[in-house]
Amino acid sequence: MAENQGYRKNDPTFGTRAIHEGNEPEQWRHMAVVPPISMSTTFKQDGPADFKFYEYGRSGNPTRDCLEKCLASIENAKFGLSFASGLAATTTITHMLSAGDHLVSMDDLYGGTNRYFRTIASRMGIQLDFVDATDPKNVVNAMKSNTKMVWIETPTNPTLKIVDIAAVAAIVKKHDNCFLVVDNTFMSPYFQRPLDLGADLVMSSVTKYINGHTDVIMGSVCTKREDLHTRLRFLQNAIGPVPSPFDCYLVNRSIKTLAVRMEKHMENGLAVARFLETHPSVEKVIHPGLPSHPQHEASICCCCVTCAIPPLSKRQCFGHSGMLSFYIKGNNLEVSKKFFKQLKVFTLAESLGGYESLCELPSVMTHASVPKEMRDQLGITDGLIRVSCGLESKDDLIKDLDEALKAVVSL
Ligand SMILES: *Cc1c(COP(=O)(O)O)cnc(C)c1O
Repeated sequence: MAENQGYRKNDPTFGTRAIHEGNEPEQWRHMAVVPPISMSTTFKQDGPADFKFYEYGRSGNPTRDCLEKCLASIENAKFGLSFASGLAATTTITHMLSAGDHLVSMDDLYGGTNRYFRTIASRMGIQLDFVDATDPKNVVNAMKSNTKMVWIETPTNPTLKIVDIAAVAAIVKKHDNCFLVVDNTFMSPYFQRPLDLGADLVMSSVTKYINGHTDVIMGSVCTKREDLHTRLRFLQNAIGPVPSPFDCYLVNRSIKTLAVRMEKHMENGLAVARFLETHPSVEKVIHPGLPSHPQHEASICCCCVTCAIPPLSKRQCFGHSGMLSFYIKGNNLEVSKKFFKQLKVFTLAESLGGYESLCELPSVMTHASVPKEMRDQLGITDGLIRVSCGLESKDDLIKDLDEALKAVVSL
């Protein structure tokens, strides 16, 4: 186990639930310990519209059911649904709104979500406001009588800002018929469980940490609320963005090692971040676990001055993943390009959360679809490099970055 670093103590039953929930052998006639992949798209009925379990593969499938139960359990939810991609999950959630409804979204978020809200949802008549939710007052000020959904991501992608989930949830609860969605992709349910902090829905790009093996595109939505689940389940079938049984099998398999993978991602991420902080070719490192993080200031307890309340990220999370970002000295495209050319262990590629270490340049890759003025305002410059630390030996990761940075400086 990696050092805890002052984060909240995690739930010791997480690993057990990840392995057993939804995976009970007794549900299968042959008592299979590993859930079978059920590829059939249709199921025999006893009489017209008379079936015991399933009718058609879009509306339900045994392998998918097994995964969705396991997902619900590790999110501390009552209900879980899986989708063909993270964006399919986002699209389906947004379909709970109608033309004329208002959506308040965090300004710093995954480029594809930003693009979907700006260019698609808004064209369908959904009113949209982006706010910096790191200050919950901005959310209060943005709320209107027709606000139906508040969407936040924390830590944000790629600048790793932290939003106080409980504070935003309290604001949303005061508005009738409005729900809060947290995109939890960067943390995975192992390190952050937004439903326990008051969020109504937790959405994940399962493609990233939850699957963790860079071989499945999938999304998930979990909730404790039956009303929202019923609506989403209807939409999942009515819109149709369901994952394949084979992908469900793979993700269910991946979840078994989520806890151990996340511990190692955290250990590697912290080691790399600490190393980069000391490097002369690095201007600034962003990692929520380090004292240098802009929101790291511990607050003082309201009844005394001696007891410091841990910084927000340590209060609402159980740790941090392998994600970090840094600004390379020079802060320009030429230097960044040369840096990527030198890397031997890290791969230059989009995506994150897999066993292999990746890095990328958000300004021209994952966040190229975000308008330039918005990128400048968020600090997404051509010198900002996003790193996803995988599960390799940390000394090899550090050596790779060190050699690449040294080569760029001497060029
Ligand atoms: C990748 C990602 C998404 C989109 O998920 P896909 O599975 O690629 O559709 C959404 N949010 C975040 C934070 C992501 O990193």
